[in-house]
Amino acid sequence: MTRPGWDEYFMEVARTVATRATCPRASVGAVLVREHRILTTGYNGAPRNVAHCTEAGCELVNGHCVRSTHAEANAVVQGALHGVGLDGATAYCTHQPCVNCAKLLISAGIVKIVYVEAYADPFSQRLLAEAGVALVPFATLAHANANA
Ligand SMILES: [Zn+2]
Ligand SMILES: [Zn+2]
Repeated sequence: MTRPGWDEYFMEVARTVATRATCPRASVGAVLVREHRILTTGYNGAPRNVAHCTEAGCELVNGHCVRSTHAEANAVVQGALHGVGLDGATAYCTHQPCVNCAKLLISAGIVKIVYVEAYADPFSQRLLAEAGVALVPFATLAHANANA
């Protein structure tokens, strides 16, 4: 029996969370973790009590759907909703966060972001670097700690 390492385990959870996405333009998942415990999760979709993109259609502005909230933002919102502090947490994201999500993650106290799919957003990367948040491609971690 092969046990997954922590990074693989949490990224697999993020991938599963992403399958709940309700915006057909993207399936993105995020899991916020501290000390090997899941604090919150989020996937991209319309706000609470608002029709899903799958029902009402996407609302496109400049090629982006503005109806749905991004996965990382929803993971932060879940912390606010349930009173879960996120300071010092690591974010496992199926996609590299956009600049708006990066700002939320920075201010929520996230110290590290692990992502699978690269999303070219130089300003997001600059902000994360300035804030001292580690931005780590999952590919560089896989199998590194399988026995930890
Ligand atoms: Zn949408
Ligand atoms: Zn985003």
